[in-house]
Amino acid sequence: MATESLVPATERRDAKERRKSAAIAVQPDMSYEQETNPWLAQEARFDFAAKKLNLDDGMWKILRQPTRELIVHIPVGMDDGRIEVFTGYRVQHSISRGPCKGGVRYAPDVSLDEVRALASWMTWKCAVVNIPFGGAKGGIICDPHKMSQGELERMTRRYTAELMEFIGPEKDVPAPDVGTNEQTMAWMMDTYSMHMRQTVTSVVTGKPVSMGGSRGRVEATGRGVSIICDHALEHLGMPIQGCRVIIQGFGNVGSNAAKLLFEKGYTVVGIAEYDGGLFNAMGIDINALLRHRKQAGSVVGFAGAEAVDPLELITRECEILIPAATENVITSRNAADLKCRILCEGANGPTTMVADDILAEKGIFVLPDILANAGGVTASYFEWVQDRMGYFWNEAEVNRRLDLIMSESFHDVISYAVTHNVNNRIAAYMLAIDRVAFVAKQRGMYA
Ligand code: GLU
Repeated sequence: MATESLVPATERRDAKERRKSAAIAVQPDMSYEQETNPWLAQEARFDFAAKKLNLDDGMWKILRQPTRELIVHIPVGMDDGRIEVFTGYRVQHSISRGPCKGGVRYAPDVSLDEVRALASWMTWKCAVVNIPFGGAKGGIICDPHKMSQGELERMTRRYTAELMEFIGPEKDVPAPDVGTNEQTMAWMMDTYSMHMRQTVTSVVTGKPVSMGGSRGRVEATGRGVSIICDHALEHLGMPIQGCRVIIQGFGNVGSNAAKLLFEKGYTVVGIAEYDGGLFNAMGIDINALLRHRKQAGSVVGFAGAEAVDPLELITRECEILIPAATENVITSRNAADLKCRILCEGANGPTTMVADDILAEKGIFVLPDILANAGGVTASYFEWVQDRMGYFWNEAEVNRRLDLIMSESFHDVISYAVTHNVNNRIAAYMLAIDRVAFVAKQRGMYA
């Protein structure tokens, strides 16, 4: 079988052993709805890692729940004169290691459970890369693609105003995520600053460079993904030459990862987008694809590759599969069909816990989201530092520091996995929980 030939027999055995020691107790009667609930997924992995760490009961209870969950209803005057009321969230999971940090997501399927999970993942992610932040996440249920710039601006400003007491450079620092961008951050920064009667650049990250953003921030998540891929290949003794990559999602993360991997000499054979897939066994010219997308507004219709079904594409044979869009892309329904050697999670929560077990069985080397996509928040940390210093680095300096942190984090996670005989995902959780619990204990409890 093609899949098996990609995985050396010794590693299949190792993976089976590790699976025995690390598999999460997946309920046999678990429904697909439960399987794809991000909060349950986060909880199950947290519980498993906490148990492995022998985390004491009190700390377990503290870290299991977010510190604060805000729900706001946002009235917005729409362009046609109607008033629409949008529901928004901001969940702050932990402030133990520093101010909360995390993006704001605009999408029709945003839910409190999703934002909760994403907030917790931010805590673990910041701890994995050892930057001085806790975790938070925000979201508004809306379809940004169907809203005008004016509607988006009014919604963003009112949402920011509702959060005034809860965000700030020392409290909680939002950033872009799915459906938001540097313009959204510019509006948030300006709204916060107008209320404060002074310009406060460090209240958000991912801003335009012209107003306190960091050079290299836009590409940073994709760059981090590419750095992690380099280390994974080195670790597994695989060459870049001939390394076939399939990327699902061609937004900020996917397109920047594709461009950087292409430039490094990887062969990007497939791009799976929501409206179509592209495949070229000889490799897709990513720069040409980016030019096409700029003109056509979509990857569809690109002449340098064959048009294929995007769902089927992610199950094709390759060395590295990179899900780079949203949650629940690799589930019990398709995990058994994957034929990649390495799964590098550019998105947050792309793999369900049921799928995790199947991937372990197949010996697929998983680079978990809280490590693989941490380049974005790491560059956000650099942005926050530069804003507070009022002194800005050139792009080479940002990239050099990003490389250092991502490389060190990769080695931290891999050595944790080996030392504790767990898979990479559980190792990343254990490392993170250990770091957060240590500080939480040291700070003590205010009661
Ligand atoms: N939204 C990104 C993430 O999920 C970046 C968060 C940030 O920079 O604060 O990691």
